[in-house]
Amino acid sequence: MRAVSIAGLLLALVACKRDAPAKPLTKVDVHTHLSPGSLGHVLPMLQQQGIDIVVNLSGGREGQGLEPQLAAAKQHPGHVIVFCTPDLLSPQAPQELERLHALGCRGVKIFKALGLQLRWPDGSLAAVDDPRLDALFEKAGELKMPVAIHTGDPRAFWLPVTPQNERFDELSVHPGWALAGKPVPTWEQLLEQLERRVARHPRTTFIGLHFGNAAEEPKRVDAMLERNANLLVETSARIPELGRTDAAALRDLFIRRQDRIMFGTDLAAGDRPGELVLGSPGASLPSPADVTRFYASTWRFFETRDRGFEHPTAIQGRWTIDGIGLPREVLEKVYRSNAARLLGAP
Ligand SMILES: [Zn+2]
Repeated sequence: MRAVSIAGLLLALVACKRDAPAKPLTKVDVHTHLSPGSLGHVLPMLQQQGIDIVVNLSGGREGQGLEPQLAAAKQHPGHVIVFCTPDLLSPQAPQELERLHALGCRGVKIFKALGLQLRWPDGSLAAVDDPRLDALFEKAGELKMPVAIHTGDPRAFWLPVTPQNERFDELSVHPGWALAGKPVPTWEQLLEQLERRVARHPRTTFIGLHFGNAAEEPKRVDAMLERNANLLVETSARIPELGRTDAAALRDLFIRRQDRIMFGTDLAAGDRPGELVLGSPGASLPSPADVTRFYASTWRFFETRDRGFEHPTAIQGRWTIDGIGLPREVLEKVYRSNAARLLGAP
């Protein structure tokens, strides 16, 4: 009698498991820029998309916006992780980072200005791998603060801004982003500087933003991940690039590197509702339909193997993308658990 009821119970459990709909996947967005006043309207919007934790890379510095960012994050405990940016070229940067850590910053954001704009007092451009910055990157490792680093820009930004440039729409709205003819390193040189930086600090974890800053070349990113065990990458604002590469090869890369890739969007938000930037700012604020497209296209890319559909951000190029339909256990890692593990989040 007892055996029968246990068997019955087991059968019922199996049946229940088979019938229950798959639990919706929840997500961590590791790349956002949110003003303190935006959290009240942005977090509910993200919740609807299944995103319940964000990394806000716009923490800034003490006395320069950080305090309101940390106070706003505290109003939403467990939902907002703040990264900060010390004064990189100051000899005191490691000490500043210690203070930022004590205040509540959980990681470091390095903007693309390093390598492209920041200059030493003698006027020379600061390279991403300049040895004078070594102590700061070592300190980040010591404090267990991941370094989210943006280096360079899409390759097309180095080409003349003509209708033939594949980023013509974006560069027409933001002419200042064009790099053609400017006295800056090449895309290739910046990527080399970045990799030397990552390789020099094996005890520091780096998040290569925008798919390792080389979304046009997934094979190169694959090799960078192979060579550097302390590197992870995230997908923000590069689904247009990723989605036009060979979908089968990219799917294979995501499966092989499933512990090293995280989901991010580069969503930015200002205090007023509707004040949003979806990966790249357009000439005007996005409409509700743009917001719907942005997320729907993102999920379609990761979760389906559909072909030839519109990518998330119209301004980033006039082409369509293919989905990579990741297996559920890989999606769970990319959407959430890789970031949760790195950031000590649930
Ligand atoms: Zn960003």
